[in-house]
Amino acid sequence: MLNKFFKSKVGNVPLPVFFPDATRAVVKSIDTSDLEETNTPGILVNTFHLWQELGVDVLKKFGGIREFMNYHGAVISDSGGFQVMSVIKSKNIKGKITDEGAVFYPSKNKKKILTPEKSIEFQMNLKTDMVVVLDDFTDPASTYDDAKISVERTLSWAKRSKVEFEKICKEKKLGDDRPYLLGVVQGGKYQDLREYCTKELVSIGFDGLGYGGWPIDEGGNFDYDSAKSIADNTPSEYFLYGLGVGKPDEILGCAKLGFNIFDCVLPTRDARHGRLYIYNFDSIDEINLNIPNFYSFYTPTREKYYKDETPISTACDCLLCKKYSKAYLAHLFRIGDFTAGRLATIHNLRFYSLLMEKIRTTIDKT
Ligand SMILES: [Zn+2]
Repeated sequence: MLNKFFKSKVGNVPLPVFFPDATRAVVKSIDTSDLEETNTPGILVNTFHLWQELGVDVLKKFGGIREFMNYHGAVISDSGGFQVMSVIKSKNIKGKITDEGAVFYPSKNKKKILTPEKSIEFQMNLKTDMVVVLDDFTDPASTYDDAKISVERTLSWAKRSKVEFEKICKEKKLGDDRPYLLGVVQGGKYQDLREYCTKELVSIGFDGLGYGGWPIDEGGNFDYDSAKSIADNTPSEYFLYGLGVGKPDEILGCAKLGFNIFDCVLPTRDARHGRLYIYNFDSIDEINLNIPNFYSFYTPTREKYYKDETPISTACDCLLCKKYSKAYLAHLFRIGDFTAGRLATIHNLRFYSLLMEKIRTTIDKT
């Protein structure tokens, strides 16, 4: 598992890997040159938003999302299911989930449906390195019977997705150039359902499985039991993807269970809100993930930093930490300039790329 690479059209990416969210084909507040400077090997783009807002004609003209963005890293896409179901469940957009797919009404007289087939077809036009099947999100508050229904629907959609995927691969004669196909495990907190869903997905056959649903239990703690159920029942050659995971310590915990792909909005969203991740060490070489509280948060706008000439962190080699002082960043946030968000995003992404580099060596040693 540890020696495995994620194969991308632009080269092999070492595992584990973290993909920040470039939901609408941009990592908010930075461009692809900035992104490449942070040693981030790839991004996750969102099917629901790009399907709604960009459309397929532009993608066909450019030959894929990577060319459209002029980006030279790995790109994966999600199924769009999480977004469409969140907007339906939050009642921002009218809609419902049926066996056919997710039905929604973007405006009064307009009906749209995201089916498993449409999701795969759109992702194949994005030309990402990994496509994810549409799944039926198990609500964390579900009863056992409701969770079972979401698992059965997830399995039926997974079968339909695989048929569509193979059809498109054949039509386009993709052969070994086909993207990876990822199935998603649902079942909420019910471990027998998680196990059942995992085994059934393996019998359909995928390149990897994702930890679907909401990974936080009712007590607000990360649900490692479900992560373990999935990992224990998945063949070792499969990728294991913690969808939307997560905080640095959660990524470390899941990586120890065998998970090797992660994505999350946290580092970039926190950066824009003035929440920076800092290793509690003096240099990059000293970073040790086996020490509890190996990182903390830095709030740039505290008054004590207004005249501070030192860098934000000496255990970081990003543009912000190499070139600017705490005082300058405090000023940029105080005046609300976009540059503050850009520099903080660059820093947090470098924190995450360092995290993956350190996890590789930490797990190798244990
Ligand atoms: Zn930095």
